Amino acid sequence: MWTEVRPQQTARWPDGVRLPIIISVHHQSEEAAYVFDDGQVDPFDYGERQYGGRRGAWRLLEILSKHNVRGTWIVCGATLEKYPQISREAKAAGHSFAGHTYEHEMMCNYPAKEELRLIRKTVSVFEDLLGEHLKGWRTCFASHNTIDLLLEHFEFEWDASMWNDDLPYVIEGHGRRILEIPFSTYSDAAIAVLITKPFPPSPFCTWSTNTPRFIWNTLKAQFDALYQRGETKPVLMPLTVHDFIVGRPSRCKILDDFIAYAKQFEGVVFTTHDEASAWWWKNYAREQTPSTALENS
Ligand SMILES: [Zn+2]
Repeated sequence: MWTEVRPQQTARWPDGVRLPIIISVHHQSEEAAYVFDDGQVDPFDYGERQYGGRRGAWRLLEILSKHNVRGTWIVCGATLEKYPQISREAKAAGHSFAGHTYEHEMMCNYPAKEELRLIRKTVSVFEDLLGEHLKGWRTCFASHNTIDLLLEHFEFEWDASMWNDDLPYVIEGHGRRILEIPFSTYSDAAIAVLITKPFPPSPFCTWSTNTPRFIWNTLKAQFDALYQRGETKPVLMPLTVHDFIVGRPSRCKILDDFIAYAKQFEGVVFTTHDEASAWWWKNYAREQTPSTALENS
């Protein structure tokens, strides 16, 4: 069992940081390809997603490098095994990493024992292939057991699997604490594409795409609102991009343009989950006392 630790003071980032932006690069390529009832993978969906490992992730790394910004690479264990070089180059460029399950299993569909096995398997792939002892985790669709498993069996400093808040918060249980850094539903999967599962007359997945302009407008609106609020309140902009979605040229150009736009504003910092977690623990979270009462919130 776990509980949230209720903050007793106003959150703050380090001096001079008005709006931290954390880009999460979901490097999962074809792991979540649709599988038909007979066990066969939908070949269209598979190919569309496989683009992520073959091309998209490289293009995302190129754009982040061009702007000299770092983000967090959220990588499935099986993807790391298939495409190790991209993660090695991302690591060399200073990006952070988090595990994203082994083959993009939707953990809400798995019993705790199997979820634990898959987390362990993924963690060991990072250690073996990348020499990376993970500080963070983002599951695929958290189960009711996810947080307990992370607290009880691992040493993660942070989790970023929840969609339920604007700012980090501390969770306590099994004798330790973990920082939850929530992400948001305006990720590229929500604003760039709509993937529909097979239905007659086509047996295959179909992909509807929003225009690059729509993606731009959504990102800019979110940024502008947060930057304004950041003048007086703590804010955070999580920005999720998938290798197989925003990795495509026309959408990548929007990410390129967005980073250039955001960098013009004073106090905007592109950072990583590892770094944001370190700030939070240093400046804020360790001062929080265990939740004895909601009245403190
Ligand atoms: Zn995913």
